Amino acid sequence: MLVPRLNNLRAMDPEAIVIRIKTPSGDMDSSVDYPSLLNFNDLLVAIRDVMPEATVTAFEYEDEVGDRITVRSDEELKAMLSYYFNTMHEQRMNGLLPDPLQIFPRAGKTPGIRNIHGLKVNTRPNPGNDCTHTVPDSIANNSLKKSSAELKRILTNGQINAQDIHYQEQLGHGNGGTVYKAYHVIGNRVLAVKVIPLDITVELQKQIMSELEILYKCDSPYIITFFSAFFVENRISICTEFMDGGSLDVFKRIPEHVLGRIAVAVVKGLTYLWSLKILHRDVKPSNMLVNTRGQVKLCDFGVSTQLVNSIAKTYVGTNAYMAPERISGEQYGIHADVWSVGISFMELALGMFPYPQIQKNQGSLMPLQLLQCIVDEDPPDLPVGQFSEKFVHFITQCMRRHPKERPAPNNLMEHSFIIQYNDGNAEVVSMWVCCCLEERRAQQAQGRV
Ligand code: ATP
Ligand code: MG
Repeated sequence: MLVPRLNNLRAMDPEAIVIRIKTPSGDMDSSVDYPSLLNFNDLLVAIRDVMPEATVTAFEYEDEVGDRITVRSDEELKAMLSYYFNTMHEQRMNGLLPDPLQIFPRAGKTPGIRNIHGLKVNTRPNPGNDCTHTVPDSIANNSLKKSSAELKRILTNGQINAQDIHYQEQLGHGNGGTVYKAYHVIGNRVLAVKVIPLDITVELQKQIMSELEILYKCDSPYIITFFSAFFVENRISICTEFMDGGSLDVFKRIPEHVLGRIAVAVVKGLTYLWSLKILHRDVKPSNMLVNTRGQVKLCDFGVSTQLVNSIAKTYVGTNAYMAPERISGEQYGIHADVWSVGISFMELALGMFPYPQIQKNQGSLMPLQLLQCIVDEDPPDLPVGQFSEKFVHFITQCMRRHPKERPAPNNLMEHSFIIQYNDGNAEVVSMWVCCCLEERRAQQAQGRV
């Protein structure tokens, strides 16, 4: 039994948590007084107590976007708890009672409803429930908190209302918009909300909203999840998944073995967009986001022509990451995105923009004349001695002056640099992001002293 066993231990955890075991026949809430002492086997034994007829060897939980993550070991259990503690913290900061940690056993057979082993049940207020038995689905669904899957449906149906969003800190400001970290009260999740002031007609607003609809269909681990967009007065707010590592432009120089894994994700993300006939059009380090789980995702791709045009009317300038053919106003296609991958990764590897005569102090938009050197000069190379041959070749290929000479999507995935780092090792990126964030925090703390 989960609780009595753990209650015997003397460790002092800051607080107990409630784990809700989701079974096909109903929910079982168990209080865990010392979560830091919980191990995978204890939890598995507790699950098997609840579902004795099923063969349970693993369970799952849902992340912030409702994707299921499997837990099969102590290490994965730790990751789940750490994710849950963060969520609890966010909920508290927003004056809410934390939801129980919901887990979904992976079972072979369907069990019956059971509580024969007397697990301690439901220690959190749950109206209409006298806290002694398994909660049937119908009652659970009536509880104040909705299930993640349901929330995902609500969110993806675009039902985020302005009044349900609590703005927290400002994450950054770009050409046209300001991005905030925010909390969606109904969905109990952290969002990134980009707010763009736009003085446009209602007709244009409707057109933008319909152009953004394709974002609901984007479903890739390498593309930021889009939740909703809405207009309030003359501002559009675009709500997406929050990435706790932020964008790559603030990371300075990134070591090649980390950059290799990031490049794999970026190439996969672009390949996915291209397969939907979407050009990104704004590939650059500030539109590549990372999180402490080691995920890398692309954001701010130009699905809405009207939105791009409306922003461009206010913010005049040319993007320094644009391919030469775009700077000189020629037609462009997928190969222009490939150039932007090359120049972005060169900057991330060197820790400086590859054209020294172009100073990007204030964002990436520049007067056209300043970018003429990108059109006129031979593209720069990465210095061979400092980087691997594969990496140097990858950058050189992406930054070929003539678009057709750059690798096509399939060739990009098959490039030896991408193949070398396509090992699914998210740990490398995760550790690097965590170290950088830690360093940043320490520097900020020093600055304060
Ligand atoms: P541009 O407007 O040309 O795209 P930009 O990318 O620098 O320039 P924004 O897109 O407005 O500007 O983003 C501002 C900053 O907000 C980013 O640099 C990034 O650090 C942060 N940011 C954006 N989206 C997210 C997100 N989903 N999660 C976390 N941080 C984000
Ligand atoms: Mg951006």
